Order: sequence, then structure tokens, then C-alpha cells
Amino acid sequence: MPETLLSVVAPAYNEIEVLPHFIEKTAGVLEKAGMNYELILVDDGSTDGTDKTIKRASEKNPKIKGVVFSRNFGQLAAIYCGFSKAKGDAVVVMDCDLQDDPEIIPSLVAKWQEGFDVVNAVRSARKGETAFKKGSSDLFTKVARKVTGLPVKNNSGEFKLYSAKVVKALLAMPERNKYLRTQIPWLGFKEADVYFERGAREAGTTKYNLKKLFALAEKAILPNTHLPLKIGWIIALLTGFCSIAAFITFIILSISGVGLPVSSWLFPTIGLSLSVLLLNNAARDKYVSYIYDEIKDRPMFVVKEEFGEKDSDG
Ligand code: UDP
Ligand code: MG
Repeated sequence: MPETLLSVVAPAYNEIEVLPHFIEKTAGVLEKAGMNYELILVDDGSTDGTDKTIKRASEKNPKIKGVVFSRNFGQLAAIYCGFSKAKGDAVVVMDCDLQDDPEIIPSLVAKWQEGFDVVNAVRSARKGETAFKKGSSDLFTKVARKVTGLPVKNNSGEFKLYSAKVVKALLAMPERNKYLRTQIPWLGFKEADVYFERGAREAGTTKYNLKKLFALAEKAILPNTHLPLKIGWIIALLTGFCSIAAFITFIILSISGVGLPVSSWLFPTIGLSLSVLLLNNAARDKYVSYIYDEIKDRPMFVVKEEFGEKDSDG
């Protein structure tokens, strides 16, 4: 398909051990399939010389573009940078540690050519993932689906093909707190699945620890639901009813001569009301901090250097 251009975007953070093989393998697959492509590698503030590997690769192969961030801004920022640079009719996003198999790119493209705007690379097997990681990711999907009401996909990460239409729509979503796994179902484009066996990392180590994963889960879920604020309301109402019931009981008992000390009703009522107020405040503060992030309107990433830009226009 020489008339169409495919952009492949891969974020890289301290991936010097695996990046050369990723580039060779991915470019090999694309060349073999006779595709007109550009490979956009985004260095997310690496400190191990990943940028030099990208620079050398772009000097050797004019289809390779490189963007280097001034510091680590996160995988999603790197993906969005790739989207903003991509000139393709379709964009494939994939990790560069070879867990996402470049061999399935032609199948993703084939589905796109059938008319699907989003083609998910779905993991039929997840080798090299601990039981904890699998379990927590399944739980995350379940909670995210329930709480946000969006059909969040299981066993599928960012490894997908996105048509130019979808990329344009994603770039037009102005919020700072972005998360592709909830944004894609929200957009509602026609999706298809292609299955693949996700292997273990070829080299290097994961860049995600538990703290980073929790932060990601929170960012994925909270901006997509008002449930924590509603829970505050529901509990506040329940506490209100309980307090009124307690008050009435207290009056009845007093009238019928069973004198109870005031403190026996006062403490639980005040305690419960206070904790509800504090919880509701905490939920509101969380959303205020998200609003603060939005109004600051800072860029998602800062670019330090770019390679191969001029050569890849054709
Ligand atoms: N990555 C990134 N910035 C980060 C963390 C990760 O660009 O702050 C890249 C990383 O180089 C890899 C992809 O995102 O290409 C997925 O990261 P990783 O393999 O560590 O995640 P895992 O597969 O363990 O969930
Ligand atoms: Mg990985």
C-alpha cells in the first residue's frame, strides 16, 4: 500500500539495552510488508544514552524520527508527542521493549483497511507478568468499567492502531489528565481486535512501580466519574436520617421516663457526621486539584531535541 503512510510511535525511557533490536525488528517487518512508514521514537528523558541510539538510527534510516524530552514526562506524554508529530493515515503505538510484537503490525493494518478506526492488539497470553500484575490489571479494568460506565477493554493496553481520524479527535480533547484506555471508548469509534501473545521484556526492567501504577489508576478513573462526590452525598443523607432517628428516640425515651445521658447520643451522631464531612471534603479536594491542573494548562511535555524531521516528509 504505497499510497498510504503508516506512523509507528514508540515511547522509550532508559531502553538502551533493547532499543537497537526493536528498531531493527520493527523496520524489518514494515519493509518486508512493503509499507510506506515513519518510525517515531520518543525519548522520555532517558539518562542512559537512549537519545544517542535514536540519533544514530535516524541518521542511518531517513524513515526514523526522534524526539527527545527535556526530562521524564511519562509514557502517555510521549505517546501524545508521537501523535502530534505523526503524519500517517494511521498510527500504531507500541512499547519498545518488544513485549508488543512488531510482527502483528500488518494484521492491525489489514483490519484498519477493512474500515475499523481503532484496532486493539489484545493479549491472548501475558508471559513474563507476575500473578499480582495480571490480577491488579484485571481488577482495575473491572473497577474502571463499573465506575466510569465506559466499556474499558481488558487485556489491551496502548498497543493499538489508531486511524488519523481518531488521532485528530484525541488531540482535540483538551483535558490535561488524559488516559487512552478511557478516552478511546468515550470517543466511540468502530473497534476491532487482533490477538497476540505478549511475551516478556526482551531486556531491561519495567519502568512502573506500585506507586506509579496506583497514580495511573487514580488518573484513569477519577476524572471519568463523579461517584466519590455522590458517595459523600449518599452517606451525608444516611447520617442525617440516623441522627433524626436518634433524636426522636431520645425524645421518646425521655418522655417515657427512661432518661439517657445526652452524651450517649451526641458523640456517635457528631462523630459520624464529622467523618462524612471530612470524607466529602477530601473527595472535593481531589477534584479541585484536578481542576487546578487543568487551569494551569501547562504543556504535557517539553522537547529538547529532534532528529530526522526534515528527511521524513516524503
Ligand atoms: N515508558 C516511558 N516513560 C515512562 C515509563 C515507561 O516512555 O515514564 C515507556 C517504556 O520505555 C516502554 C513503555 O513505556 O517502551 C512501557 O513501559 P514498561 O515496559 O516499563 O511497562 P510494562 O510493560 O512493564 O507495563
Ligand atoms: Mg513492558
